[in-house]
Amino acid sequence: MLRHALITLSHSNKMQRLTRDFPPARRVARRFVAGEKREDALTVIKQLNDMGAFVTLDYLGEHVSDKRLARASAEEYKTVLSEIAENSLKSGVSLKLSAMGLHIDIEFCYETVREIVALASEKKRFVRIDMEESALVNITLALYRRLRKDFDNVGVVLQAYLHRTRDDLQGLIDDGIADVRLVKGAYDEPPEIAWQDREKIQKEIIALAEMMLSPEARDRGARMALGSHDDVVYNEVIRFASENDIDPQSWEIQFLYGIRRDELKRLLSQGVRMRVYVPYGESWYPYFMRRLAERPANLMFFLRAAAGK
Ligand SMILES: Cc1cc2nc3c(=O)[nH]c(=O)nc-3n(C[C@H](O)[C@H](O)[C@H](O)COP(=O)(O)OP(=O)(O)OC[C@H]3O[C@@H](n4cnc5c(N)ncnc54)[C@H](O)[C@@H]3O)c2cc1C
Repeated sequence: MLRHALITLSHSNKMQRLTRDFPPARRVARRFVAGEKREDALTVIKQLNDMGAFVTLDYLGEHVSDKRLARASAEEYKTVLSEIAENSLKSGVSLKLSAMGLHIDIEFCYETVREIVALASEKKRFVRIDMEESALVNITLALYRRLRKDFDNVGVVLQAYLHRTRDDLQGLIDDGIADVRLVKGAYDEPPEIAWQDREKIQKEIIALAEMMLSPEARDRGARMALGSHDDVVYNEVIRFASENDIDPQSWEIQFLYGIRRDELKRLLSQGVRMRVYVPYGESWYPYFMRRLAERPANLMFFLRAAAGK
C-alpha cells in the first residue's frame, strides 16, 4: 500500500518540484545520491575504489520527452566516461533508455546509446542498461540485442519479480549474450505479470543466479552481477558459487550507494567482488522516492528530518 503510494508519487511533477526545493529532502537524498555535480560523483568513485569496490555511475534522469534533454544527458555520460578513464577510476556507467529518448523516437534512442557505448568501448569501460517498468522490457531487450551485435562492453538488467524473466534469461544465455545484472525489481507491477510475495521473489532471484552460474551458461559467456542487499539472497549465491568452485572474480555483487555500508565492507574483506551503483545529478527525485518505497525506515528517517528532529 505504502510502496504503491510512494511509487505513484515518484511520477508526480508537482511533488518533484516541492521535494527538490525542500532542504530536509535534499539532505536525506544525499544519503543515496553522490551529489548534483560531476565532481561530487568522481570524488565518491575515488573513495569507493580506495576501499576496493568498483563503481557503476548513473547520471540521474528518466522519462525525457525532449530530444535536447536526451542529447544533454548523453553528452554528460560521454564527458564523465572520459574523466573516469583519464583518472584511471574503476567505474563504468549505468543508464536508462527513457532518459535517452526512448519515448520520443526509438531510432534516436538507439543511436544516442550507441554513441555512448562506442565511446565507452574506446575507453575500455562498461555500460549497463537499467531495466525500467514492464512496458519497456521488450524494447529494452531488443535494443540491447542490437547493441550486442557490435559491442561486448554493454549489459542489461533483468527483474526477478516478472514471470517472464526465466525465459528472457534463457534466451540471452542461448544467444551467448547474457551479461546481466539480476535484481528483484523496483516498480509497481500487477500480480498478472509479477510475483508479489517476498519469499517467492527471493527464490526466483536465487534460481536465476544459479542459472547464470551453471556450467552451460558460463560456457556460453554468461556474466552475472547480483544487484541485491538481501543477505538471504547473496549469502545463498556466495555459498552456491563457492561449492561449485566458481572463481569469485568472475561474478559480482552490486549495492546501491548509501545502503548497507557495513555489509559492503564485510563482503569486500571476504574477497567478494563488489560494485556500487552511484547516482548523481539534479534529477534525483524519482530515484529517491523508489528508495523510500523499498524501506519504510527510510521514510521515517525522511519524516523525522522534515520535522527537524
Ligand atoms: C546495484 C543495483 C541496481 C539496480 N538496478 C535496478 C534496475 O535496473 N531496475 C530495477 O527495477 N531495480 C533495480 N534495482 C533495485 C532492485 O530491484 C530492488 O528494488 C532493491 O535492490 C531492493 O531489493 P533488495 O534485493 O536489495 O532486497 P530487500 O529485501 O528490499 O532489502 C534487503 C535489505 O537491504 C536493505 N535495504 C534494501 N533497500 C534499502 C533501501 N532503499 N534503503 C535502506 N536499506 C535498504 C535493508 O536492510 C533490507 O532489509 C537495483 C538494485 C541494485 C542493488
